[in-house]
Amino acid sequence: MERNHLPGQFASQSMSIQLTELDYKSASQRARVLTESWLAVNALCPACGGAYVKTPNNTKVLDFNCKSCTRPFELKGSKTKFGKKVVDGAYGSMIASIREGRQPNLILMNYRLPFSVLDLFILPRRFIVEPMVVARTPLSKNARRAGWVGCNLDLEIIPKSALIHCVINGAPVPQENIQRSWAATEELESIEGAERGWIAVALGIVDSIGSGFFSIDDIYAYESRASRLFPNNKNVKAKLRQQLQRLRDMGFIEFHGNGAYALTNKFIGN
Ligand SMILES: [Zn+2]
Repeated sequence: MERNHLPGQFASQSMSIQLTELDYKSASQRARVLTESWLAVNALCPACGGAYVKTPNNTKVLDFNCKSCTRPFELKGSKTKFGKKVVDGAYGSMIASIREGRQPNLILMNYRLPFSVLDLFILPRRFIVEPMVVARTPLSKNARRAGWVGCNLDLEIIPKSALIHCVINGAPVPQENIQRSWAATEELESIEGAERGWIAVALGIVDSIGSGFFSIDDIYAYESRASRLFPNNKNVKAKLRQQLQRLRDMGFIEFHGNGAYALTNKFIGN
């Protein structure tokens, strides 16, 4: 470790050095430099505790890699709190990156000015699945980029525990807890394509039921959600049952017989 502060502690002195180097006029460039600098100085990779390093020659998005494990991350900073829908870039390129398995982990940073970080959480790439990507209305013909279609990421369809909290109300979460939350669902990373979408949606349904014990009928009550998210699938109930078996095999739930299920500690997390 190259830095002399403990994981989770904020190195405010280093931060002020960065600030004096600020040379930018526009507010967005300034915000970008602040959020990037903060991340590089104050946060560590949720998977291995390595340092974040800026991807070289990057001009478009805020891209980082972990110096140790090389996992990819993209930083999104916002002065307003992130809601249930996160505004992302072009719809087409988001869908393509998911299909090609190259979507980065998203770091969502909520800050205020003068600069301090209120909340920071990570949406691991394993939960960035096609059903959560919702197309926005195309830009009007008078817009500079007329016809351009952006997207929102709908966080409501995935379980709350999918998000890894690193800073809550200005207080850092211990790195050990961050890494434990990361590891809890890491196994999903090995599931490919549309199947990963199904398991993420099934976990989201189990989370929405909101009880440690549930029945197959509780799952079926969300059939319309699953049908909306997978419009081409004509046998949603069977597909949901298959996900329950997978979740059992991965240790997230237990089967208690007669269509009764229970969450395990692994699902509940932390
Ligand atoms: Zn790492």
